[in-house]
Amino acid sequence: MAEYETVIGLEVHAQLTTKSKLFCGCSIEFGAPPNTHVCPVCLGLPGSLPVVNAGAVERAMRAALALGCTVREHSVFARKNYFYPDLAKNYQISQYELPLNENGRLVVEVEGTTREVIIQRIHLEEDAAKNIHGAGSGESTLVDYNRAGTALMEIVSGPDLRSSSEAEEYLKRLREILMCLGVNDGNLEEGSFRCDANVSIRPVGQKKLGTRCELKNINSFRFVRKAIDYEVARQITVVSGGGTIRQETRTWNETQGKTLPMRSKEEAMDYRYFPDPDLPALAVTPEAIEAARAALPELPEAKRARYLAELGLTAADASVLTGHPEIARYFEASVAALLARANKLTRDAAGKRVANFVQSEVLRYAKADGLRVELPVTSDHVAELLALVESGEISGKQAKSVLADVMASGKSPAKVVAEQGLSQVSDTAAIEAAAREVLAANAPNVALYKAGKTNVMGFFVGQVMKAMKGAGNPRLVNEVLQKLLSEAP
Ligand code: ADP
Ligand code: MG
Ligand code: ZN
Repeated sequence: MAEYETVIGLEVHAQLTTKSKLFCGCSIEFGAPPNTHVCPVCLGLPGSLPVVNAGAVERAMRAALALGCTVREHSVFARKNYFYPDLAKNYQISQYELPLNENGRLVVEVEGTTREVIIQRIHLEEDAAKNIHGAGSGESTLVDYNRAGTALMEIVSGPDLRSSSEAEEYLKRLREILMCLGVNDGNLEEGSFRCDANVSIRPVGQKKLGTRCELKNINSFRFVRKAIDYEVARQITVVSGGGTIRQETRTWNETQGKTLPMRSKEEAMDYRYFPDPDLPALAVTPEAIEAARAALPELPEAKRARYLAELGLTAADASVLTGHPEIARYFEASVAALLARANKLTRDAAGKRVANFVQSEVLRYAKADGLRVELPVTSDHVAELLALVESGEISGKQAKSVLADVMASGKSPAKVVAEQGLSQVSDTAAIEAAAREVLAANAPNVALYKAGKTNVMGFFVGQVMKAMKGAGNPRLVNEVLQKLLSEAP
């Protein structure tokens, strides 16, 4: 049996984070009552005229520049003509021959292999309305035009990906970049980041691309993998059985675990694209392009490299902390605040302490909703808490329960520690009192220690900690015990 290579090209539709639609002032609020965010323009009423949303252009341009694209100074909006109930005008305004952005790249790495993926184009287009099938008696379809006219950018990759894992990685990195730029909220469930996967196979060594099938609107990273894997296996079975692949559009059916045909190329629509006479060419000045380029934030990839180099984090830690822009900001603010409080700490040490605490404790309570993340405590409180651990005032174990109290009460960590009398742990007198009692009650063990069996130290520490209900600073407990034992007769 011949060996086949998988070829994948992805088309991502990413909803832009503008407040209003692409060509009118209607709000794009998700989940509003049906057909409440509509106007003559997005309902396609005769005589209404579209006006492009500058914020959408700026966001698409920002994404393009971050991905190394060239921005066209004059791009053209085109009408993509077809009839469907979710498209009131009978055409969608998109960009065709002269898109806003072209020729970028995104490098992805999977299991040590890097793959350069060409971004062929990033163009602007409006979203369609939403058909709700199976309404009423189950046979009706309702249309909600709230989504009609929402600003999207379509990001088209070259046929450069070679496996479902590479496709998944590409999508994750892309989503992360768009979120970091604030141009997309990365919400797959709400459909603000959706993907069509074009999949073909060819015998290894063959240059010419095989016939592709397009898998439509897959709304989770897991489904992308499953759909591609299924489709590759299906195509290999067809071809190795002597058959040929028909170019067609297929959907992923999660219940059946299969891709199923939607429409073939024969039935494919002829869109009759032509420049939209209602819209002038979209002009972007070189100054605006350069200003947008200069204003680009540090991207996740660069952040990860910096966390590794400056803060000594592991790649895995850096990847979690840069996965969401709010978490990266929070992490960095916490490190800075901790360094300000505990000035003996090195950057590396502060970075690691915060990275560990945020990942193991704070993120457990974090709630993410698109670009917004609700974190249980402020970065200042994280720093204050870790500084208390650093100064020995509380133990690492206590920090967890203090965190819970800070979350519940909103009080500062220092206040919680003071109110609960936890800070006595660094009070040597209190430790000494407890230690004296433990030693007095365990004279035989003291004798053993004196006779050279120093491993009973662990026992003493344990007893003192127990007497102090776990609130003792282990380092101080050790020190105090050593001192008392050396003084003992
Ligand atoms: P369309 O607009 O009809 O979907 P495009 O030429 O714009 O067609 O291609 C869309 C996507 O399909 C791109 O991401 C491209 O990389 C990918 N693609 C094109 N040919 C193939 C192929 N033979 N195998 C896999 N992907 C392909
Ligand atoms: Mg396509
Ligand atoms: Zn409108």
